[in-house]
Amino acid sequence: MVKVSRKSFRTRIFFYFFVIFVLFTLAILSFQYQREKKYRSSRLENTLDYTAQLTERFIERNQLISSGNLSRIHEIREILPGESTRITVIGLDGVVLFDSSVEDVELMENHLDRPEVQKALLEKTGSNIRKSETTNQEYYYYARQYPGHFVRIAVVYDIEIRNFLKAGQFFIVFIVGAFAIIGLILYLVTGQLSLAVTRLKDFSVRAAKDEVIESEVHFPDNELGIIGSQIVRIFHNLKNAKDKLALEQEKLLNHLNVLNEGIVFFNKNKQKTLVNRHFIQYLYFISKESALNPEDIFRMEEFKRLNEFLLANPAGSSVIKPDALPWLEYVIPSGDRFFKVQCIIFQDFSFEVILTDITRLEKRRLMKQQLTSNIAHELKTPLASIKGYLETMINHWPVPPDKQRYFIEKAYLQSERLTSLINDVSLLNNIEDAGELFRFKTVMLKEIVDDVHGNFADRMNLHSINFRSYVSDEIEVKGNESLLFSIFQNLVENSINYGGNGITIEIRVYHSDELYYYISYVDTGNGIPEEHLSRIFERFYRVDHGRTRESGGTGLGLAIVKNAVQLHKGEISVRNRPEGGVEFLFSLSRK
Ligand code: ADP
Repeated sequence: MVKVSRKSFRTRIFFYFFVIFVLFTLAILSFQYQREKKYRSSRLENTLDYTAQLTERFIERNQLISSGNLSRIHEIREILPGESTRITVIGLDGVVLFDSSVEDVELMENHLDRPEVQKALLEKTGSNIRKSETTNQEYYYYARQYPGHFVRIAVVYDIEIRNFLKAGQFFIVFIVGAFAIIGLILYLVTGQLSLAVTRLKDFSVRAAKDEVIESEVHFPDNELGIIGSQIVRIFHNLKNAKDKLALEQEKLLNHLNVLNEGIVFFNKNKQKTLVNRHFIQYLYFISKESALNPEDIFRMEEFKRLNEFLLANPAGSSVIKPDALPWLEYVIPSGDRFFKVQCIIFQDFSFEVILTDITRLEKRRLMKQQLTSNIAHELKTPLASIKGYLETMINHWPVPPDKQRYFIEKAYLQSERLTSLINDVSLLNNIEDAGELFRFKTVMLKEIVDDVHGNFADRMNLHSINFRSYVSDEIEVKGNESLLFSIFQNLVENSINYGGNGITIEIRVYHSDELYYYISYVDTGNGIPEEHLSRIFERFYRVDHGRTRESGGTGLGLAIVKNAVQLHKGEISVRNRPEGGVEFLFSLSRK
């Protein structure tokens, strides 16, 4: 970039001004000079004409030609002002009859071809300026025709510039004065102008370098200054707007990064404009290779549908209305995870792609789907039984009273099953979906265990089951009484139902730390076949269907236990004891 300093700007203006002024002055001078020359020439010509007539009158009066006494003409020459006046008398045939500067006129060549003589021959008078071959000086020749001869007067031609300048001294002074005054005015005006230009230049250089520019740049009070101030003001407005936009973008990006969704924005040329961390992470996971650029989605198989969608809506293909933006949504399964892909095309054909990890939701949805069909299936069996007993009675009515009682008792039992099934399902749902509704308080674990023992005392006696609790009074957990009760109730019920007769149940707190009590629940019964161990906490999972039905179990008992333990921030596991029976190990939060 050419550095324009204030000085050079001013110098340049001066230079232009000077050149124009000089040209202008020269033009005026030359015009004046021409006029002056013309004026002086005509004055000179008048004088010469006057001299010619004077000479002619002198010749005529003294009859000089007929007397051949032309040399008397010297008398006139002597009384004429200036010594350079040369008088020549030439015959109409061009023969020089007399010349004041030449003694031997006979030796002079014929003068008929002299331009002034030629002109005089045609128009009576004629003039010409040329160098004299005799004196080597420039002469102004003037010839006039008279009857029988020409009189030619010549003077040294000295209308020189020097003389002219001398004559035009005043004019020159005037011109120089005007130059000085205009120059001074120009100096002052350019001072103001160049100040504005310099400020503008400084400003533009600093703006280009992205340097900090103070909000007030002072400009002189003239048009250029006003333009300068406006430019700086507009620049600051734009810069403020740009800064604000950058801040908003940063906020947006921060916000996007906090979101659990992966988001990327593309312009209509499929170039990324904004992307958050999650998008890169999800893309990396989906691609299984090293797809780290958001632009990679345009070539990935998983995003085929997205690309087809974009192809169907190419930039500029139609007018997009703000309330009907083209929109696509589908799910990509990837390994054991699921991602929802959403794409929205905006009015300017830029678009955003959103990736949402819906693994949990999707799994939950699949589970709920399965659960619903399981529940329906589980409900069908007792309902079908109840219907069957009632139909039998209706179809065989009158039924003997003892049979009646039998069927009604059977139907009642099934309705009990239905009730407990529905209770278990709703309890599980509550734990899962509305865990926060269970009120937690400090609970003495021993009281819970004792309550459960009390509840099942009769049944345990019936099966000769030995119940031993080693839970001491000081064990306190932070929990919900009814859920804690459910945990032990389900475990004990299972031991009774599946453990067999004559077994022993033992409950103890085998370890504790600052946060948890670690509890062991043991029964010495049949145990659970190894292959089923990993799945018994699943809903409706049963080891032996026949036996479970008999026992009235819903298949939800251990699922309730696991969920209740987890709601108490604990974990649960199960193992078969080497000496027979099963052991459940779980933790419960103290705080
Ligand atoms: P249910 O409500 O049908 O009892 P659970 O989820 O409580 O279902 O138990 C799942 C399965 O685990 C039962 O069907 C049973 O076969 C087995 N089971 C649970 N506890 C014991 C145990 N203490 N001894 C032997 N088998 C058990």
